[in-house]
Amino acid sequence: MSEHFNVLEMARQQLSIASKYLDLDEGLHQVLARPKRQLSVNFPVVMDNGEVIVFEGFRVQHNTSRGPTKGGIRYHPDVDVDETTALAMWMTWKCAVVNIPYGGAKGSVKVDRKQLSRRELEKLTRRFATEINIVIGERGDIPAPDIGTDGQVMAWIMDTISMQAGHTTPGVVTGKPVDLGGSEGRVEATGRGVVVAAEEAAKQIGMNLNGARTVVQGFGNVGSVAARIMADQGAKVIGVSDARGAIYNPNGLPIEELYHKYSGRDGGIQEYKDCEIVSNEQLLELDCDVLLPCAISAQLVKENADKIKAKLIVEGANGPTTPDADQILNDRGVFLVPDILANAGGVIVSYFEWVQDLQNFFWEEDEVNTKLARIMRSAYSAVAQARERHKTDMRTAAMIIGVHRVAEATIKRGIFP
Ligand code: GLU
Repeated sequence: MSEHFNVLEMARQQLSIASKYLDLDEGLHQVLARPKRQLSVNFPVVMDNGEVIVFEGFRVQHNTSRGPTKGGIRYHPDVDVDETTALAMWMTWKCAVVNIPYGGAKGSVKVDRKQLSRRELEKLTRRFATEINIVIGERGDIPAPDIGTDGQVMAWIMDTISMQAGHTTPGVVTGKPVDLGGSEGRVEATGRGVVVAAEEAAKQIGMNLNGARTVVQGFGNVGSVAARIMADQGAKVIGVSDARGAIYNPNGLPIEELYHKYSGRDGGIQEYKDCEIVSNEQLLELDCDVLLPCAISAQLVKENADKIKAKLIVEGANGPTTPDADQILNDRGVFLVPDILANAGGVIVSYFEWVQDLQNFFWEEDEVNTKLARIMRSAYSAVAQARERHKTDMRTAAMIIGVHRVAEATIKRGIFP
């Protein structure tokens, strides 16, 4: 479904809508529509069988008006420079909406991680880190995990940069293991933030999350955590999916069991028996109250938007809804909390991790979670107010706040020289 969908076009359309509301000067609009810097690298890795394979990767920095750039590194076979740019742009608005002092960036390597041995993954990571070392740094651009990368990958990047610097530089990446300068609560942060956004939205539209029939697309770092917390808080999770397929049980699925017993297996969650196997398309169209798309971009599209039955959608993934689908869902009265607000928990706790690293002073998990929830709730309330003020939807309201903050910073700093 998402194949060949131009997400950069989609990100630019969202920016144009917000720019019109803000009556943004066209020159400034052009500054924000383009990335400040795009690094493209091709680098060799000697595979386990002795063969040399050249991999393609990118690091894109979209905007630095509000601070150093921040954003994950994605390992996926379908990445390209346009998608990486769109993701960097979304990071800029995301950081601005939750008011943390960063601009947006994103990195990517075109690779299927599942095809690599652990040794190949380490070599690829260390070589990619070396290639992008000319643009990243703890004061300039700080990577983090995204699809296909994790704490171990971040540890290798941190080690590689540290070896080249001659001293340990924990602040150069976030999402590291806790014993290497990572933050308590970082792994769960995005999923936890998605649930906070869902709670605030439920309050706003008068929905009771206790017993709410919930569908979660994606059982990775975001979806599995969101599903577990939703279930723990009383929601009835009736459908979930991973990269291999989707499962459904109208009476509710045992999320903890799926997480602990099935998600690590080769066959994945589909090996669980007491459920119906459904397609990804069917999963999204299930009769439910809450839908959490926590997988990849362009999943809610023109073709399926009028078949979605959820009353509330909270976007754990980046860019899961296309502008056409946004319009249809909005016209149908479906309430949607956009990615740049809903999934900001990850980068919020990345910010906490970075601050802790720079100070060499570490916080308890409670403190992290309390501060995360506070930032999420206050950003949610600002977006809800902007929605009222501008009589628009939540995505446009979030974009208006994000774009306005970045534009203001650019205007106050002035155009150099
Ligand atoms: N990859 C995550 C995102 O898309 C987190 C980025 C970060 O922590 O810097 O928001």
